[in-house]
Amino acid sequence: MSIPERAFASYHLWSLVAPAVGQQRWHCQMRRGFVKARQGESEVKALLTHATASQRIGLLAQKGVYEFHYNRHLLNQADGVEQVAQLLKLSNSTHEVQHRVRQILQKYHESPLLLGKSILQLTRGDEGFPKPILIQQEDYAFRLYATMDCIFLDSDRSETIHILDFKTGKSPFDERQALVYILAARYLYPAYQAVASFYNLELCKKSEIITVTKSQLDSLELELAHIAEKHQEDLKKYYQQASNFSKIFPPNPGYHCRFCPFNSICEFSTFKSSQ
Ligand code: SF4
Repeated sequence: MSIPERAFASYHLWSLVAPAVGQQRWHCQMRRGFVKARQGESEVKALLTHATASQRIGLLAQKGVYEFHYNRHLLNQADGVEQVAQLLKLSNSTHEVQHRVRQILQKYHESPLLLGKSILQLTRGDEGFPKPILIQQEDYAFRLYATMDCIFLDSDRSETIHILDFKTGKSPFDERQALVYILAARYLYPAYQAVASFYNLELCKKSEIITVTKSQLDSLELELAHIAEKHQEDLKKYYQQASNFSKIFPPNPGYHCRFCPFNSICEFSTFKSSQ
């Protein structure tokens, strides 16, 4: 299999190419077209940079956890939540965002999941694109992007790192994200085994710990190589003939258009946000 030079894969791309289990009816390839092919257009750019309340809550929650561990004494102080809220400039946010983030900070202050763990990496969440990992095998090559919220040494298993992804809101955990992180860890931390899990900061809910065998990781890598290649081919077709946008990235309109960030500019949308 020959892979175009610029081929890349990430969990985000995987989620745009293929739906999560149970989400098939709502999956729309045209969204991938807007996000990955037309992201440079001013209208699309504006829609992509307009963070929703849920995205803002997720980002502030992640930053909050980071601040608690960067300023560890705040976890023991009675006004620790207030101090982190100030560091986050929470008062600049809407009432809903302030309310939900404050609750998250309160819960984390009461029960800090990472306290006592040997943390190898904890991100603020606003660092931007991570450095790509070049995956090169005999039959394929692609760049893998994986932004991991937190990595710590697993105290229950020797020579094992635990990759933790923080969540907010009610969306179910998508195991594929954990699989991509474990694959990334194979290259970034080759001396360690890796496991992964999710933690919902609003619901204080942990997922099961996800483990993968070597042969499962090999298959996953190959699947991501195929996704990278297919996406690169689609982009090439689009740049050759932009008028074929809806053929290359077919729309799947329906009730879910109501929640699509592109409904105001998508000619196939069953819902217009200005309605
Ligand atoms: S508005 Fe509907 S059809 Fe258009 S991209 Fe979004 S989900 Fe797809």
